[in-house]
Amino acid sequence: MSEKSSEEQLLEFLYACPVGLIECDPTGEIAMMNPHAMQHLLPLAGPRNASNLFAALEQHAPELRSLAAAYTPATGKICDGHRIFVDLGSGRRKQAPQVLSCTMVKLGADRLMVTLSDISQQVVQEDRLRQADTWFATLLDGVNEYAALAITPAGHIASANLCFTRQTGHDCTAVIGQKLAEVLHSDSSGGDLRLEEQVEIAQRDGWHLQEGWQQRRNGTRYWCQRLVVTRADGGSPSPTGFSVVLRDVPRREAAAEDLRRLLTCDHLTGASNRRHFSQAMEREQAHWRELRHSLALVILDLDHFKAVNDTYGHPVGDALLCQVAQACTEILPPRGIFARLGGEEFGVLLPRFDLDQALNLAEEMRVAVAGLCIDTPTGQLRATASLGCATLEEADGSIDALIALADRRLYAAKRSGRNQVHQPQACAA
Ligand code: GH3
Ligand code: MG
Ligand code: MG
Repeated sequence: MSEKSSEEQLLEFLYACPVGLIECDPTGEIAMMNPHAMQHLLPLAGPRNASNLFAALEQHAPELRSLAAAYTPATGKICDGHRIFVDLGSGRRKQAPQVLSCTMVKLGADRLMVTLSDISQQVVQEDRLRQADTWFATLLDGVNEYAALAITPAGHIASANLCFTRQTGHDCTAVIGQKLAEVLHSDSSGGDLRLEEQVEIAQRDGWHLQEGWQQRRNGTRYWCQRLVVTRADGGSPSPTGFSVVLRDVPRREAAAEDLRRLLTCDHLTGASNRRHFSQAMEREQAHWRELRHSLALVILDLDHFKAVNDTYGHPVGDALLCQVAQACTEILPPRGIFARLGGEEFGVLLPRFDLDQALNLAEEMRVAVAGLCIDTPTGQLRATASLGCATLEEADGSIDALIALADRRLYAAKRSGRNQVHQPQACAA
C-alpha cells in the first residue's frame, strides 16, 4: 500500500489544499500553483501576465514585488498574512470587499513559496468586533453611575444595584422577582425597540445596545443607554439569564438637537423629512425580517392642491400644509412616523400595524384633514385628501414594492373621486 508515490501524494495534497499555494522565483515567475491559487489569481490578473505572481497582482498589491526584492536574508518569511484588498468594482458595492491574505517565504536564493487565502469573512467579523468594542467603550467610558440588573431567562429581576434606585426611583430590593418589562417603561416612539425585543435580539446575537428615552418611577423621563447582554454559563446552549446595564447619559445639547432636527425634519411643516423616513423604513424592514413585526405604510396626498395655490396664493398653501402635518401628527400612534415625502404628499410609517389598523388610522387622518378650516382674506379654505395603505407583508418585504403598492392605492382613491381611503379588499389594487 506504500506505492502511491510521494509525488502523487504531493499532487493530491496540492489539489485538495484549501489554501492557494504558489512556488515562484524571486522575480515572480511561477513554477507551480495549485487550483486554489489559480482561482484567486486569475480574476485579479485580468489582461496581465498570469504566469508571473507580481505581474498578476500588480494592480492589487504592487508592494509584493518590492517586499521580495528588499528581503536580503538567505531564507525566511518575507511577509506574513499580508492583506490584499480586492475591489472587483462595478455592481458589487453592497457586498463585503474581498480580502486575501498573502504569506511569502523565501526558501532559497531562487525559490519563494507563497500562500494565498480568502479572509473576507474574517475581516467582516473583525469589523463587527471593532464596532462592538467601540460601542462598549463609549458605553463604559467614564461611567461611574450605571444601573445594573440581573434578569432570569423568564424576564424577572434577580438583582439590581443601588444605582438602579438612584437612576429610576424604583427600590432595588422591592423590584426583585418582578418582570423587568413591567418595571421599566421605555418611551419607544420613533420605532425604538422595547426591552423584550432587545432581549430577543441579545439572545440571538449575544448583546444589544440602544439609546432612548427611559421613564423613571415618577413618570419623568431621561435619555438612557440601555445594554442587554446574554449570560451563558459553562457553554450551555440556552442563556442562564441576562444582564441589563442602564446609563443616564447627558441630554443632547440644544445645538445637537437643532442639528438633529435639521437632518431629520422637513423645514416647512416640521414633519420628518424623506431621508429620515426612508432610514426608518429600512430599520423597520429589518425588524420585520428579524422579529416578524408587521409594518404598514399610508400615503396621503392633498386633493386639488394646485387649485389652493392658484386661488389663495402660495403662502396660504404653505399654511395648509403645516396644518395638515399638525392635525395628522396629533393622531399619530407613539411608534408612528409622519413625514413629508414631497410637495403635498405625506407618508405615515406604522410599525406593528396591520392593514386594517392602517386603514382605520388613514380614515381618521382623512377626517382630520377634512375638518381643517383656514380663514383667508378671500374666505374660508377647506381641504381634502386621498389615501392609500399597504403592508410590508403584502409587498413581500420589499420597500420599493410597499411604496409602489400604497401609491397605486392612493391613485385608485383619486380616481374614485378623492377625499377617501382606498379599500383594497373592495377592488383588487
Ligand atoms: P391631485 O388631487 O390629483 O393630487 O391634484 P393636485 O393639484 O393636488 O396635484 P398636483 O400634483 O397637480 O399639484 C401639486 C401642487 O403642489 C403643485 C405645486 O405647485 C404645489 N406645491 C408643491 N410644493 C409646495 C409647497 O411647498 N408649498 C405650496 N404652497 N405648494 C406646493
Ligand atoms: Mg395632490
Ligand atoms: Mg401629489
